[in-house]
Amino acid sequence: MFKKYDQKQQFLLPISLEDFIAEDHIGRILNDIIDAIDITTLEAKYSKDGCPAYHPRLLIKILLYGYMINIRSSREINKMTHTDTAFMYLAAMQHPDFRTICRFRSTHLDSIKDVFSQVVTVCKEMGMLGVGKISLDGTKIKANASVKQSKNADALEKEIDKILKESIEIDKAEDEMYGDSTPYQMPKELVDKTKRLEKIRAAKKKLEEEKLEKINITDNDAKIMKHKDGSMKPSYNGQIAVDDKEQVIVAADLVTDTNDVNQVDPMIQLLWATMGYRPTILLADAGYFSYDNIDLLSQIGTESYIPDNFFKVEERGKSKYFLKSMFRFDKVNDCYYCPAGITMPFKWIQKRDEEPDLKQYIGNHCSICILKNACTKAKKRIISRDPREHLMEDMRKKLRTEKGKELYQERMSTVEPVFGQMKQNRGFTEFLLRGKDKAKVEFLIMCIVHNIEKIAGFLKRKAKDGKEVFRKGISECHIENIGEIVVNSADKISFLSGNEDGIGLFNSN
Ligand code: SF4
Repeated sequence: MFKKYDQKQQFLLPISLEDFIAEDHIGRILNDIIDAIDITTLEAKYSKDGCPAYHPRLLIKILLYGYMINIRSSREINKMTHTDTAFMYLAAMQHPDFRTICRFRSTHLDSIKDVFSQVVTVCKEMGMLGVGKISLDGTKIKANASVKQSKNADALEKEIDKILKESIEIDKAEDEMYGDSTPYQMPKELVDKTKRLEKIRAAKKKLEEEKLEKINITDNDAKIMKHKDGSMKPSYNGQIAVDDKEQVIVAADLVTDTNDVNQVDPMIQLLWATMGYRPTILLADAGYFSYDNIDLLSQIGTESYIPDNFFKVEERGKSKYFLKSMFRFDKVNDCYYCPAGITMPFKWIQKRDEEPDLKQYIGNHCSICILKNACTKAKKRIISRDPREHLMEDMRKKLRTEKGKELYQERMSTVEPVFGQMKQNRGFTEFLLRGKDKAKVEFLIMCIVHNIEKIAGFLKRKAKDGKEVFRKGISECHIENIGEIVVNSADKISFLSGNEDGIGLFNSN
């Protein structure tokens, strides 16, 4: 006996798009959120004349869902609108072609930034943000470019000469073949070389204008960056600020700086611009440590926990020679005391170009010291001191407290898993689009997707204890249709909790 199998069967009732995906499918949450956000600025960019365009909400939804399930190619997304029920639901059975999807993604950076901010606001209104304990981190993501295409001025010049020489030879061969008559088309080889030549010349111009050492011909904006595995690749540096409560990304940016040290101020400004607040506590790794950053954070009233680059070495305590922390500074007498208990007086100033001068303290009795082999291989041990060094010493003290250790540990479980989910779970290890602005769109999409998944997880958990999560603060929310999220999501929660009649969880009646 088999179950009835009839591909020609008729449906008694017309099929609804609502039947295409399960009640608890994340596509529904994504759908409701994008339906709720305000896209009037984006809509205003469309012309009222000509053929009606695909609705921007539709394009945002299928793009976000594509990135959520690691389908990023516009052709693939288009294909999915024909074959995948979640895409069919989100696109309402429409099938924007790949050029439309690609163009939309490439030209709406500002709108994607706005979507990101509004989704974070949704998280805030749902009570998913904590009291401003923010972890900052960055990750290197490979650009859509080969490392071999990163060249310096000499290499670019050589390649230009080579292409010109080859092009002349192709021209010559063409002349011999066709004489004075002209072939219908420029030979493909020559077309390719001309295009390549244009690219290299554009890259060379940028290299000279921005005084760069090297530039990537395929993606001029990408920079060679060192990845965690030690490899050097043309890349971008993705920056995120994550709230500790539910791991929501509250600010995100994509930069071309190869290190993170200059990103504290811009990220705080971004957070301020997006959410209107500054962190109460900021946790970041040693890559973000600088005296300027610590000073800035203290000035704006943010309690920071950022180790310096040598903190770990100090903590391990393994070093060939006595660590600097073993020398005690005496501010009043302006000297250090070395591990042998000998005074090291101030000796001279070391001038620096863009940093405050360093003060140098010297051991005057090292040649007769029995500890010398453990202290220095030079004739005398010298200790340098930056006038702002007390900031580092205070920070180290803070990090060594129980509270400091706990908070720093929290940073690891707040921000590091976010990049793990992005890269390992969703396969976002390389950009598809070229150029900083387009790559930034992709990065922001990944951050929006992350936050939507957090919202979905939050709803599931809240549904279990049946507490109302949306009502508080809704009246202050600037998102016009937030109420719809409340109603729609409440319905889903009642389903997710197994309460199929939907009573008792979010119903106000
Ligand atoms: S070598 Fe010089 S600085 Fe080092 S412990 Fe001996 S006296 Fe002090």
